[in-house]
Amino acid sequence: MAVNWIAFHLTDRCQLDCQHCLRDPGQKPKDLSLATIRKVLAEAKRLYRTRQVALTGGEPTLHPELEGVLDAIVEHDFTWHIVTNGRRFEQLLGLLRDGPARRERLTAVNLSLDGADETTHDGIRGKGSFRDVMKAVTLCTAHGLPFTLQMVLHARNVHQIEAFGLMAAQLGAARASLSMLQTTGTHHDEALYLPPHAWQDAQHRIERLSAALTMPVTMPEGFYREQIFHVCEAMKSESLHVDVEGRLNLCCQHAGVPSEGPPRDVAADLATTSLLEAHGRLLGIIHETQAAKLAAMARGPLGAWDHFPCNWCMKHFDKPHWTDEGAGGPSAQRERWRGAWAKKVTLPVVR
Ligand code: SF4
Ligand code: SF4
Repeated sequence: MAVNWIAFHLTDRCQLDCQHCLRDPGQKPKDLSLATIRKVLAEAKRLYRTRQVALTGGEPTLHPELEGVLDAIVEHDFTWHIVTNGRRFEQLLGLLRDGPARRERLTAVNLSLDGADETTHDGIRGKGSFRDVMKAVTLCTAHGLPFTLQMVLHARNVHQIEAFGLMAAQLGAARASLSMLQTTGTHHDEALYLPPHAWQDAQHRIERLSAALTMPVTMPEGFYREQIFHVCEAMKSESLHVDVEGRLNLCCQHAGVPSEGPPRDVAADLATTSLLEAHGRLLGIIHETQAAKLAAMARGPLGAWDHFPCNWCMKHFDKPHWTDEGAGGPSAQRERWRGAWAKKVTLPVVR
């Protein structure tokens, strides 16, 4: 067990308004401070000898000091990857051209692609988005940049698992990643909901796809686990996540998601607390969470959704989560420009 990588939630800014987005851009989007990033990089290097950084958001290329962030990564001798919707890819390419050391340390561009065709993808992520991703793929290929295609699965695109995998292989992706949708707390949850048996079916199809393709096909944390007592990468401290406010929190899936009461997944503000001390507090949160899971197992009986570790985790932290009836937990309260956050979640949904 080691701290293998640090993820920075760089910004809440984004040009898109995807139906499955977990982020809360709020009225005034926040950006992670460069000073905090530099502090955490220095501590992670010195204390853990960590080498890899992930840049996420929002859309990380919209961070007003992205150039400074990349230079801090170079200066502290880290390698990095970025998760992007591709819309500002040419600007990112410009920063790589201007700084060859930035380019040398880039391990992957993770492009979000939520459908194997334009209609499906743009129906979820907005008009023009599919073409942005395809253009970014072309530029990656032309410039020899390794890229991954990653898809968030839900009811509107689950039929395209195989088509997505084949497309990723044909385009020359280094990897295809298919993840399970977490509850957004918005009215979109109703149309995106899949019941537990449908998720298990999707999981089996991804496993078959993985066996059929030579390219790696991966499933991030979230899918069904036979063993309810499952310890994820974040809970093993193999990755540490810094949220947009500069706080060490449990993982990216918790960041910016509404909760009943004050969030309990946040360890400390890294601007004022050392990474080591914050990590110690995070271990306390993790220990309490795992103890709660053991207690739930002892109490029983457990339901089908309890086999999905991230869903159990979100429920435990009083955040939006799936139930047999649809979506449970708090609704997102904020206004967004296309109104996704305005309506309450409609229950129940049974399929
Ligand atoms: S899912 Fe990503 S690209 Fe889509 S609105 Fe959210 S942050 Fe932006
Ligand atoms: S939501 Fe919980 S179980 Fe899932 S990856 Fe994050 S910390 Fe782990």
